[in-house]
Amino acid sequence: MSECIFCKIVAGKIPSRKVYEDDDMFAFHDINPQAPVHFMIVPKRHVDSLAAVGDPDVPVLGRMMAKAGRLAAEQGLTDGFRTIVNTGRVGRQDVYHLHIHILGGKEPLGRMMPSDGS
Ligand code: 5GP
Ligand code: ZN
Repeated sequence: MSECIFCKIVAGKIPSRKVYEDDDMFAFHDINPQAPVHFMIVPKRHVDSLAAVGDPDVPVLGRMMAKAGRLAAEQGLTDGFRTIVNTGRVGRQDVYHLHIHILGGKEPLGRMMPSDGS
């Protein structure tokens, strides 16, 4: 089986705190949350990153985006949230299985990009 950690999570080989699952996507809480609520939505079919998306992935990506707001609301994020898709070396992607981060909490998050670039 794939060595990809998110493929293993999707397959249930590595435990996770599941938020949602259907035929095409899997959502689970981040193990190292960067906000009071922080979960990710991933396609079940392995795609390395947003830079590697092809035409066959388009419908699933659309459904993932459409699901994001509903899942956020179910997690209590009724007053907004942030989505992040880190891509490649410059985007500081750590796990090379495409994922949408969804972050939020009761209070507004910090700036999207720290001005000192850290
Ligand atoms: P990236 O930097 O690639 O955008 O984000 C990868 C995310 O995956 C990180 O926020 C990291 O905390 C999370 N992560 C890495 N390994 C695991 C794991 O085994 N389980 C869960 N739930 N999250 C993980
Ligand atoms: Zn994978």
